[in-house]
Amino acid sequence: MRLGTNWLACVMAILALGVCGLGSCIAEGDSGVEAARPPLRVVCTTGMIGDMVRAVGGDRVDVTVLMGDGVDPHLYKATRTDVAALAGADLSFYNGLLLEGKMTDTLVRIASSGRRVVALTERLDEEQLLHPNGAEGHPDPHVWMDPVSWATGIDVVREALTNADASGAGSFATNAEAYRARLDALDAYAKRVLATVPEHARMLVTAHDAFGYFGRAYGFEVRGIQGISTESEAGVRDIERLVELLVSRRIPAVFVESTVSERGVRALVAGAAARGLEVHIGGQLYSDAMGRPETWEGTYLGMIEHNINTVVTALGGEIPEGGLRSAPIPVPLGATDGADAKGSS
Ligand SMILES: [Zn+2]
Repeated sequence: MRLGTNWLACVMAILALGVCGLGSCIAEGDSGVEAARPPLRVVCTTGMIGDMVRAVGGDRVDVTVLMGDGVDPHLYKATRTDVAALAGADLSFYNGLLLEGKMTDTLVRIASSGRRVVALTERLDEEQLLHPNGAEGHPDPHVWMDPVSWATGIDVVREALTNADASGAGSFATNAEAYRARLDALDAYAKRVLATVPEHARMLVTAHDAFGYFGRAYGFEVRGIQGISTESEAGVRDIERLVELLVSRRIPAVFVESTVSERGVRALVAGAAARGLEVHIGGQLYSDAMGRPETWEGTYLGMIEHNINTVVTALGGEIPEGGLRSAPIPVPLGATDGADAKGSS
C-alpha cells in the first residue's frame, strides 16, 4: 500500500517535470509564479498608437505595429502576416473613425472571434470630433494632431491593459500619468511656438485634410488638396480654388506629407507661380505616420514637434533654441485635476 502511494507520487513528479519540459515552467529554485508572466502581446495599427501603448505598458507589453513610416492608413490593407498577428494577440488597438478604412472587415472578424480589439478614439464625444464639409457626415479620424484630444486615448489604453493584466494596474497608472504629462508639455510648446507665426499667415495648406484638429487646437486655418481620406483624387477645380486662396491671402508656403504623393502640392506651387506668387514648399509634415524608427521623428512627440517647427519656420514664426527637448517645460507630475480618477479601480 505504501509502495503504491510512493509509486503514484513518483509518477506525479515525473508528469510535473514533463509539463515543465514543455517550456511553461520557471527556472530552478524560482518559487514566484507571478514573476514569470510573459508580456502581453499587443498589436497596434499605427505607430502613434504603438507609441502610446509602449509608454503605458512599459515592459509588461510586447508591441507590434502594423503600419510603419510612410504608410498611408487610409489605403492600407491587412497582409496575411498582419491577420496572423492580430489573431494571436492578447489585445489589439486601432484608431477608429474609419481611419483604417480598408481594414474594417479584418478588425471586425478578429473581434468576433473573441479577441479584444479596442478603438483608441472611443472616448471622444461627438462635440470633440470634427465633421468636415464634404465628408458625408464622417468624423475626421486624425485626432493625434491635437495632443489634448489624443490624450483621451491614454485611459482607453490603461483600462484595456489593466483588464488584460490586472497585476500591472499600478505600473500602467503611473506610466499613463507620465505620458499624459509629456503630451501636456507638447501642447504647451505648440501653443507657445505656433503663436509666434504672424496672424495673417496662420494657414496650413497640405496634401490632404489631416490637420483639422491641429488647426482647431492652435488657431490655424487648414486646407487639404484631398479630403480627410486619400481615397479620392483631387480634381482640377480643387487645385484652382486653392491657388486662388494662396494668391488672395499671399500665403508664403505649402507643405508636403510623408504618406501622400507630392503631385497635388507641386501643382499648387506651379499654379501660384503662373499667377505671379512665389509659394515655397515649406517642408514635409508627418501626417498619418511617424518618421523612421530609432529617430526622434519616429516617436509621437518627435513627429508632432517636427510638424510644429516646420510650420513655424516656413510661415515666419520663431522656434526657441533646442526646441521641445532641450528646453523642457516643467510639467506638474501627478496633476490633481482628477481627470483620470474615474474608472481606476
Ligand atoms: Zn489621413
